[in-house]
Amino acid sequence: MHLLETRDLTHTYRGDVRALEGVNVTAEQKSRIAVIGPNGAGKSTLFKHFNGILKPTSGEVLVRGEPITKENVREVRKFVGIVFQNPDDQIFSPTVEQDVAFGPINLGLDDETVAHRVEEALHLLGIEDLRERVPHHLSGGEKKRVAIAGILAMEPQVLVLDEPTAGLDPRGVADLVAFVNRLPGEYGMTVVFSTHHLDLVAEMADHVYVMDKGSVVGSGTVGEVFARP
Ligand code: ADP
Ligand code: ADP
Repeated sequence: MHLLETRDLTHTYRGDVRALEGVNVTAEQKSRIAVIGPNGAGKSTLFKHFNGILKPTSGEVLVRGEPITKENVREVRKFVGIVFQNPDDQIFSPTVEQDVAFGPINLGLDDETVAHRVEEALHLLGIEDLRERVPHHLSGGEKKRVAIAGILAMEPQVLVLDEPTAGLDPRGVADLVAFVNRLPGEYGMTVVFSTHHLDLVAEMADHVYVMDKGSVVGSGTVGEVFARP
């Protein structure tokens, strides 16, 4: 049984846009999975299937061996946390601290647990200094960290990051790589991410899927995928 798996996943958007066609991917516990491919390849669409934001046109998505259903989608969303490409899509509270607390409060956790999780997430992302700031006034890279902290504070087993390195300066990229690389060992988490920084894939992935035009066109270890035939 895989931690996360898609079987022959196909997604057609309204207007007959085929975004995914017969996609089979798997993710195991404590693994770091990169999904690469050009714009429009279907990466974001795939990610939105991992926690039931989108419903398959055909095929299925299994989390811990169970297909996502209306009944279990709330549980699935605790298990699989997604950070979207554009942080403005998920940041809306008046302060950074409140924003990071939003998810854990929504899970119904008590105040003490919420406070503890917020501290840990702020610390892991190195944004303790931003806690009183207004999220809207932050830089793109800072907002990105706030968005990641907010999802992390819900303590998902699988963290999905859509283009986490986009718009970060070299220091921000290095910090992000270090952060991602801590998650499997220290927290037992699985990380699935997309990136256009191919040079980073070797540093932060165990397994790579290459997508193009809605299909997986390559898969393997970094060595396998980038080896020249
Ligand atoms: P198989 O399906 O026969 O294991 P693959 O080519 O899929 O062959 O996998 C090659 C190697 O990569 C194996 O060691 C496998 O455990 C590992 N692997 C495959 N998929 C993943 C994944 N999603 N995450 C981590 N490791 C993986
Ligand atoms: P990627 O993340 O690899 O850039 P996407 O999953 O965003 O790819 O897009 C895959 C395809 O689906 C593209 O052709 C894109 O234009 C289309 N698409 C994405 N979102 C929508 C939507 N909400 N409605 C219609 N088409 C969409």
